[in-house]
Amino acid sequence: MRYILLNPGPVSISGGVRKAALSADLCHREPEYFALQDQVRRGLLDVYGCAPAEWTSVLLGGSGTTALEAMLSSLLPRDARLLVIENGVYGERISRIAQIHGVEFQAVKHEWTDAIDFERVAQALSDRDFTHVAAVHHETTTGRLNDIDRLAELCEKHGAELLLDSVSSFGAESIPFESPALIACAGTANKCLHGIPGLCFVVCRNTALQNAAEPPRSLYMHLPLWAEKQDRQGTPFTPAVNSMLALKQALRELAQQGGWRARHAHYSNLAGQVQRQLSRLGVQSLLSPGESSCVLNAYRMPAAQTYAEIHDGLKQRGFVIYAGQGNLESAMFRISTMGDIGNYDMERLLAALSSVFSE
Ligand SMILES: *Cc1c(COP(=O)(O)O)cnc(C)c1O
Repeated sequence: MRYILLNPGPVSISGGVRKAALSADLCHREPEYFALQDQVRRGLLDVYGCAPAEWTSVLLGGSGTTALEAMLSSLLPRDARLLVIENGVYGERISRIAQIHGVEFQAVKHEWTDAIDFERVAQALSDRDFTHVAAVHHETTTGRLNDIDRLAELCEKHGAELLLDSVSSFGAESIPFESPALIACAGTANKCLHGIPGLCFVVCRNTALQNAAEPPRSLYMHLPLWAEKQDRQGTPFTPAVNSMLALKQALRELAQQGGWRARHAHYSNLAGQVQRQLSRLGVQSLLSPGESSCVLNAYRMPAAQTYAEIHDGLKQRGFVIYAGQGNLESAMFRISTMGDIGNYDMERLLAALSSVFSE
């Protein structure tokens, strides 16, 4: 059975991307590979129109967390003082990474269901001289889209640089690249870009690479090393060649489909259809209208059903959904409409939801 993945990555991919992944055997020390690497690096910058004179995209093997850890461990200088914004699993992960790498940091903690409290963030930035702020753009724990424009403004005002976990938003949500505060974004091939797992990336300002941690905190994840090699038609380690082939095709399809804005509109349409169908069936959204990303919505578990029943009922009908994390596990479930999902899949999904929730 072919499953449509409604979990937040990896996503259902198009036939073109699947074919591209298996289209060639490439040695990563040959010109064919370097041409591919150059195209993908350029393609990533092009998604948001980032000028190569100011921005660099650095590709490396690993999942989204690799990009996040590489961004934080290499772009935070040794004397950085970091403020972390936590309102979910992924914000807390940023703090954990900072702790492991011995970065001096403090967190503004929130409940997982809460929006960023900007008064507390402003207070923290006024109380201490933080050089950097790190936050999650789309907090996939609850589907909340954090207000990054406002955070970037606050960073500008306090002279702090902003590092963003945009793993589940890059390619589908607006990212304030024009803000001088924003210096780097971590992303992955297999979420909103519709590539396959194995490859992740950081889009960063050239100045951020120049100010990177010295000495390095990591061998594999030190971004200046990857950037330097990739700039000179090289690669420090064996890259995820097949994921690179797939991502090239996925970026081409994204551009053909109208770029990130069109993808945003498409996802919003799909998420809206699911939300309205569930609302008709008496299932409520976890967050208030307008708080969720276009990528994923969290729903309150209906009192009469368990997650296992909902999950298994949908899986029998060809759809894989996602449980809540941590202490929200019994309170909610999540549906992401990322990936190559067409009208026919949606019709079947709406019917499947109707059967499962009226049972
Ligand atoms: C998916 C995700 C990650 C990375 O998860 P991996 O399992 O390492 O790919 C990081 N941050 C957010 C917000 C995510 O949604």
